[in-house]
Amino acid sequence: MSEELLAKVASDVVVCTKCDLWKSRRKAVPGEGDSRAKIILVGEGPGESEDREGKPFVGAAGGFLEALLNGIGLDRKSVFITNIVKCRPPKNREPRPIEVETCTSYLERQINIIKPDFIIALGKHSAAYVFQSRGIPFSTITEAHGKLVQPENGRRTSIFSTFHPAATLYNMKYKTELKEDFELLRRELKHRKLV
Ligand code: URA
Ligand code: SF4
Repeated sequence: MSEELLAKVASDVVVCTKCDLWKSRRKAVPGEGDSRAKIILVGEGPGESEDREGKPFVGAAGGFLEALLNGIGLDRKSVFITNIVKCRPPKNREPRPIEVETCTSYLERQINIIKPDFIIALGKHSAAYVFQSRGIPFSTITEAHGKLVQPENGRRTSIFSTFHPAATLYNMKYKTELKEDFELLRRELKHRKLV
């Protein structure tokens, strides 16, 4: 059932023209993974490889993300991976607030269908959206990362944020912190018997 609902979201995304990003995309990237996933990972937006293949996190950042997931006992098929904007911003610029505001109705549909135990925001744009849309104050990713947040508005889903894998590829300090955040996550998942 949730598989069909997710497929409907994806088929809406691939023909979407609600913001200007559709004009320069090759393929929209709705996201992919297990419809019963306990974890949704939310990146920023498709890059070059993702735009070409129509799949999330298939480039260099994707390879690193996959290694991080494997390192905590998960594989990418067991989670759901998507982005706050589903079409590639030209030249990989940051998504604009209006694009995030317009596109995240799809992300919210995906979250409502899957009802994950965890939303893991990757990077500042994704974290800012996920936190603020749930009434959680957000200042910077440096301050927010690595902390598990339980929204108080009756939603059961825990929120966690960390650095964007792409931002850490050439920065050892962030890379170390990203790995430490995943280790924290592993302990929490183990505690909840999810890995
Ligand atoms: N970076 C992202 O934020 N998302 C992707 O899907 C790929 C790279
Ligand atoms: Fe539609 Fe989102 Fe693509 Fe904009 S980024 S065209 S809202 S799918």
